[in-house]
Amino acid sequence: MSAPEGMKAKLGRNVFKTGGEAHIRIKPGAEKDERLRAALYVCPAGLYSLNKQGEVELDLDGCLECGTCRIACGTDVLEWYYPEGGAGVQFRFG
Ligand code: SF4
Repeated sequence: MSAPEGMKAKLGRNVFKTGGEAHIRIKPGAEKDERLRAALYVCPAGLYSLNKQGEVELDLDGCLECGTCRIACGTDVLEWYYPEGGAGVQFRFG
């Protein structure tokens, strides 16, 4: 599910610095796990999607590091770490 347009505009103010390894990974073999489906609905940035094979995919660009997907899906299906120092989201309010 993608974020609503108003939400996208607000999220577009944030700055994201890439670097290092992916800080969230779907564990190998968990792409079709039912527990991962929750991420399709709870990620506020709409970064999870379902492909034609019925597998959940994650595009980390725009991750807010909120941890909602980790709580909703659990660590059996997701590896979740904060990004390395200097990388990740910088919030812009206003
Ligand atoms: S940490 Fe938050 S923003 Fe990032 S992928 Fe998980 S739910 Fe989405």
